[in-house]
Amino acid sequence: MQTNKDYGGRDVVVEALRPFGTSIFTEMSVLANAHGAINLSQGFPDFDGPEEIRAKAAEAILRGPNQYTYSPGIPEFRQAIARKMKRFYDVEIDPEKEVTFTFGATEGLCATLLGIIETGDEVILLEPTYDTYPPVATMAHARIRYVSLEGPEFELPREKLANAFGPKTKAIVINNPQNPCCKVFTREELAFIGDLCAKHDAYAIGDEVYEHLVYDDRRHVTLLSVPELKDRSFVISSTAKTFSMTGWKVGYVIAAPELSRAVRMSHQFITFCGLSGLQEAMAFAIDFPDSYYTQLLSEYTRRRDWLCDALDELGFKVYSPEGTYYLLVDITSLGFDDDVAFCRMLPEKAGVAAIPCSCFWQNRHQGRDLVRFCFCKKDETLDEGIRRLKRWIG
Ligand code: PMP
Ligand code: GLN
Repeated sequence: MQTNKDYGGRDVVVEALRPFGTSIFTEMSVLANAHGAINLSQGFPDFDGPEEIRAKAAEAILRGPNQYTYSPGIPEFRQAIARKMKRFYDVEIDPEKEVTFTFGATEGLCATLLGIIETGDEVILLEPTYDTYPPVATMAHARIRYVSLEGPEFELPREKLANAFGPKTKAIVINNPQNPCCKVFTREELAFIGDLCAKHDAYAIGDEVYEHLVYDDRRHVTLLSVPELKDRSFVISSTAKTFSMTGWKVGYVIAAPELSRAVRMSHQFITFCGLSGLQEAMAFAIDFPDSYYTQLLSEYTRRRDWLCDALDELGFKVYSPEGTYYLLVDITSLGFDDDVAFCRMLPEKAGVAAIPCSCFWQNRHQGRDLVRFCFCKKDETLDEGIRRLKRWIG
């Protein structure tokens, strides 16, 4: 491996990216593998999504063609997204002009920010912030303004948020449901943000990858169904969580035609296009009957309740999630006070891996008491994880 020395002491990485280091998800998964730990850190299922979807992709790849496709995505995929938005949210979308395929939500966010941000524009991020947003906003030369959600319920601090908006605000990113705090925004909260965006002529960028994992009597509200936001929103989502295929990176951005033009402009120079076979297979999956979606939710509800109860019995203070496939625990309830030290020790000592949450805040003092476990795992994996934690704590 090349070191700084080989390049005359220069750090090859651009200065702006240096503070971000290696993603916490990579760090914890590597640590989990090194210790043979049950990996409840990085959020990916340890099972693959439905075989019919994989068979569809295999058939499409064998049949071909396997060449470059239309940059914004194949029509079947974009039409399936439009049908889905009508079916779940009663939102009308023009698949021709308003949907763009991206390599996962990650590229969707990147293409959106690179397509709309001028140097020095301000972007508001709500903390705890999903790890991709700050580096991507930085690569887009944005100035980031952080606003922390408050208290154990992660409430929107309305006055602070209103004060964060100003003449330079170009956009706010809203991750709903929010990773890692598992908050689900209400229509009323989104309308409040919508009023601020309208007042300051700013865009709203919604990361809605966990849209189908919203628990109890809550309902997911897409930004595109909020009247104040409909024409100024970029809604980013992905098939990764809904169909348990995080490795495929089939995502998309939905936005009004002029806004989509900006996304498409940058997307064509980032990846140009995505595998048509995978788009075709996901177009098929998106049209699955309601029973698929209700079963997905009931399976995750069962796992959520199981892990919440088990961790609670072990003495952790548990925050039951409103959405996503993660949950947070407060480690001070077991006498620990440093989430990073806790998560670095856990794989070796307990044989389980989790995510420390302070890295999702600018001020690392916040979140020091919070650790995230994921429950997108087979029953036997969760069972073994719980058994190991019990043995370690017991
Ligand atoms: N946004 C959030 C909030 C996430 O948790 C993740 C990780 N699954 C992503 C985006 C990335 O999605 P994708 O794999 O489709 O790029
Ligand atoms: N979204 C996943 C998580 O929160 C991580 C995805 C990634 O590693 N890029 O665990």
